[in-house]
Amino acid sequence: MKKEKIIIANWKMKLNLAETLKLAKEIKEKFKNLNKGKIVVCPNFISLIEINKILKNNPVKFGAQDVFWEGKGAYTGEISPEMLVESGCEYVIIGHSERRKFMMENYEIIHKEIKAVLKQKKLTPIICIGENWDERKTDRRDFVLFDQLQQALSGIDITDNQNIIIAYEPIWAIGSGTAIEPSEAEYAHKIIKLTLNDMFGIKTVKENFRIIYGGSITNDNVNGFINLDNLDGMLVGGASLDAEEFYKIAKIILRD
Ligand code: PEP
Repeated sequence: MKKEKIIIANWKMKLNLAETLKLAKEIKEKFKNLNKGKIVVCPNFISLIEINKILKNNPVKFGAQDVFWEGKGAYTGEISPEMLVESGCEYVIIGHSERRKFMMENYEIIHKEIKAVLKQKKLTPIICIGENWDERKTDRRDFVLFDQLQQALSGIDITDNQNIIIAYEPIWAIGSGTAIEPSEAEYAHKIIKLTLNDMFGIKTVKENFRIIYGGSITNDNVNGFINLDNLDGMLVGGASLDAEEFYKIAKIILRD
């Protein structure tokens, strides 16, 4: 049986509080009759408490854009998995390429964050992986994907009801206006699936993992992706900042 598709909005640091709440209300209204698939929005930290009020008991869920790996303590500026749960989050993005680039997040940090989130049990991690332009041009993509998955998830036990989302985001495609060719996404998703199968077994991957694509998806190019065998959803950045555009993308993916 195919998994329900998930469409996740990454609002990055693009909106202030008022803009975030306005967009959340518009999205809530658009998806009020949602009866299939999953919709998740990921606003900035300061909006989470208010977003929780707007989306309480709503089919649209929300998540954070980052998390720290400790539960409590002298970690100035950080936010723990428990705090995210307290604010109503059900999802959290981990290891986005912008954090790897600007905040120097490395494999060790990402691995610790995933471990802490899975230990917490109430959050679903959205783990971002993907090759940069140089790696792509020199035919290293397959190895990069294999390596990033190994570094992120090695030694982690997945229990029965834990969900994990792997977002394949070729770095060169993010925010570029050019999405990858759907056939290439399918190929990369297969590599990811085979690697995960090797690490965790076919049954666990089938039941606990989703593999989604992110990178310059719009309502104009999303059609090419809907028939891919190994695509369980989308992570949408720029195009999710407009409620109508995001709604159109979701409708196409969900074939609603
Ligand atoms: C992202 O950064 O996660 C993303 C998918 O961005 P965009 O859709 O703007 O390329």
